[in-house]
Amino acid sequence: MAEQQEKFTDLNKLGEFGLIEHITQDFPLRNASSIKGIGDDCAVLEMLNGQTVVSSDALIEGVHFDLTYVSPEHLGYKAVMVNLSDVYAMNAIPKQILVNIAVSNRFGAEFLESLYAGIRNACNEYEVDLVGGDTTSSFSGLMISITVIGEADEADVAYRSGAKENDLLVVSGDLGAAYLGLQLLEREKEVFKEDPDMQPQLQGFEYLLQRQLKPEARKDVVEILKALEVKPTSMIDVSDGLSSEVLHLCKQSEVGMAVYEEKIPLDPKVYEVCEEFNLTTTTVALNGGEDYELLFTVSMEDHDKIKGNPNFTIIGHVLEASSGANLVTRDNQYMPLTAQGWDALKK
Ligand code: ADP
Ligand code: MG
Repeated sequence: MAEQQEKFTDLNKLGEFGLIEHITQDFPLRNASSIKGIGDDCAVLEMLNGQTVVSSDALIEGVHFDLTYVSPEHLGYKAVMVNLSDVYAMNAIPKQILVNIAVSNRFGAEFLESLYAGIRNACNEYEVDLVGGDTTSSFSGLMISITVIGEADEADVAYRSGAKENDLLVVSGDLGAAYLGLQLLEREKEVFKEDPDMQPQLQGFEYLLQRQLKPEARKDVVEILKALEVKPTSMIDVSDGLSSEVLHLCKQSEVGMAVYEEKIPLDPKVYEVCEEFNLTTTTVALNGGEDYELLFTVSMEDHDKIKGNPNFTIIGHVLEASSGANLVTRDNQYMPLTAQGWDALKK
């Protein structure tokens, strides 16, 4: 369980301006396109090359995270990652973020300091500048909304809409682990509620927990593709589960796809924990979500460049639209993919 904050400094004591100044110190600007960061009415950017991509994602307490087992550092880090992931999914490089927070008086200055420590770590590791945001109060919980700005050469930008018949469908990393990490945390929370003296039993599950609590956006995938001189014909990040993302690519590209069940990349721990929870690995990979891997299509000509790369798995191929989006099961049945996402797994 997340550690309780020991010190508590009332946010009102610092005042809005004192607080903002306090939590946003030590955010050096490192990108040439960041002209002015925090401190004026607006940030000033100078995007000199190519195209600019922009996206926002909000995380709401009780909907997207539960502070009984998520530490503020991890929350700050993850809030940045989910945004960076969207930029990498365009085959672009994130450069700046703006962070909007709404907090109730339940939270002290120490909590926000830790939240911003997580945001700072993310900025340092991914070479992104925090250039502004807004701070408001909320009656109940905590909300963090981040806007990310990135850049890419026009020729590099990968849309969801470019997949062509006969392209290969490729995914980075492995799937399903983040969802199982969440199941483990939920189970420990229930145990803890019944008996607060019980120590959480989470040893040996570090990989699944890390995938849930401290995901990494796949910056490396964009770099590898560039080095291989492979431009994805379409791309999306896996935030809601493989099924849902395949359907997005199919719809926007006006194509069908076949995904081979036996090809879906899974960590050994995913098999182990699925057995414990009586779940099937395929259901978890298809509907689990929060993997933040990249799912993309490449032309057949790029097959050899992708095939041997340990970061990538070819899981299927693109068909004509009338074929629809299907899972080809281990016994060679065609099952239409449906976007069930989280709801299906909750039942
Ligand atoms: P304004 O009243 O013009 O909105 P603020 O006092 O809200 O100005 O913000 C002052 C500066 O601090 C601005 O540069 C703003 O972008 C930045 N800022 C405010 N809140 C945050 C935050 N939560 N995180 C990062 N920067 C922030
Ligand atoms: Mg403001």
